[in-house]
Amino acid sequence: MIRLNENYLKLKSSYLFSDIAKRVAAFQEANPDREVIKLGIGDVTRALPQVCIDTFHKAVDEMASDSSFRGYGPEQGYAFLREQVAKQDFRSRGALVEPDEVFVSDGAKCDTGNFQELFANDITIAIPDPVYPVYVDTNVMAGRTGRFSDGRYEGFIYLDGTSENGFVPPVPQTHVDLIYLCYPNNPTGAVASKAQLKEWVDYARAEKALILFDAAYAAFIRDDTIPQSIYEIEGAREVAIEFRSFSKTAGFTGTRCAYTVVPKSCMAYDTAGNAHSLHGLWNRRHTTKFNGVSYPVQRAAEAIYLGDGPRQVRELTDYYMTNAKMIRTKMEALGYSCTGGINSPYIWVDAKEDSWTFFDLLLQKAGVVCTPGAGFGKCGEGFIRISAFNNQERVATALERIETALR
Ligand code: PLP
Repeated sequence: MIRLNENYLKLKSSYLFSDIAKRVAAFQEANPDREVIKLGIGDVTRALPQVCIDTFHKAVDEMASDSSFRGYGPEQGYAFLREQVAKQDFRSRGALVEPDEVFVSDGAKCDTGNFQELFANDITIAIPDPVYPVYVDTNVMAGRTGRFSDGRYEGFIYLDGTSENGFVPPVPQTHVDLIYLCYPNNPTGAVASKAQLKEWVDYARAEKALILFDAAYAAFIRDDTIPQSIYEIEGAREVAIEFRSFSKTAGFTGTRCAYTVVPKSCMAYDTAGNAHSLHGLWNRRHTTKFNGVSYPVQRAAEAIYLGDGPRQVRELTDYYMTNAKMIRTKMEALGYSCTGGINSPYIWVDAKEDSWTFFDLLLQKAGVVCTPGAGFGKCGEGFIRISAFNNQERVATALERIETALR
């Protein structure tokens, strides 16, 4: 008899996006003449930068001739991309990262989900709340939790994000082994200062813990005093893995390219207390289970660092940041307190009532779809997330309608 991994049965069904879709469909059926504007999605809406398209085409043409054709590439990624990443995303900001510490992949979702495979099953894990659900679910699948009850899994140490702490929870008072952090944050849009990240790095060093730092939205940071990488913090190379993505930076959500930095000085320990380099272990895992991102996609990703690439990428993220500013300004003018939208593309709005009631109000009265915060964890109740990823005219129209609805 084929038996299940019963940990999968503990997973709370993710009703969030299907519940949203159901409510939107019901609204549209009842109001066929009203156009709905979706500000709930976390997907980009604008085309790839021209440098990426040009380079992508050129690389595809290389595949058309035997002399320039490429078969399997290095599983860790081509040197041309790893070198640009190390130089431009890290060294340019004073953070030491070597090209061979960069592992190119097809997504930060897979990497943030897969990295936990390297660790023992009885470790203690700190999980932020509200949270990008991948960190939670992949640990549930691996059997590191008990049941789901009263909105939480038994076994995790939850890091509560609240208005009081600005959605940057402090380090726990107890010991944990593995810590998930995400800044700029999805869903709250909060960013962590250098001093706040230093507390985490110091904590991790003292506890021999490891930080998994998700910086998928680093390209949206506009305040230069905010660290873009955890490696801008002294000592982080010993205790932190960083995940980045081209998805939101350069519109690669459908093209797929990301990378994970695993410094050679980052260690994990066996039961006898001996240290082992995570770099070697991740390399082993990556080369066993992954066969590389396609050559044309890696060339297209490299293009964001060359010639006019940086300017084009900046223009793209600036476009969304203009939306973010419009959204935050309007919601604040209407009397709602907001987090995010300044160094991130998400605006986290205190709904002053429960998440789904406010969601329904915006849908019914304004025809605008947001994401109820309750879907991201217990601490998300009472908030909604508005995404800046949309066409500017539609954002402006949505905000006019919200203003009419809420005034
Ligand atoms: N990390 C966070 C915090 C995200 O919000 C997302 C996507 O929404 C991802 C990772 C996934 O990125 P990718 O498209 O590279 O898989």
